[in-house]
Amino acid sequence: MTFEEIKDIVRRLLKDLKCAHCNRRYENEGIRFLAAYCCEAVFHFFCVHCAYQVIVQVQMIDGEEGEEGKTMTITQNDVLDIHNFLNQFNGDFEKLFSHKT
Ligand SMILES: [Zn+2]
Repeated sequence: MTFEEIKDIVRRLLKDLKCAHCNRRYENEGIRFLAAYCCEAVFHFFCVHCAYQVIVQVQMIDGEEGEEGKTMTITQNDVLDIHNFLNQFNGDFEKLFSHKT
């Protein structure tokens, strides 16, 4: 995944994604890029309005649909305690992404 693709994903997420708690849009300063692996990227979203946090996993799929030629699948996982996740995570993204839903 290229830097341009990651920037494009962030632009689309900012446009489309709303906080599941207060339903307001996320701000630029509330988004942190965590990792990219193959065609997937993981972001940490922090709502500056209500402090709600989520981990967002984005999968890019090549396809004919859409003006930009790629379809984006978003999986949003509510995170109650992001600090525990980050403290326990050992950096093994291959293992993190190996279990398909
Ligand atoms: Zn919020």
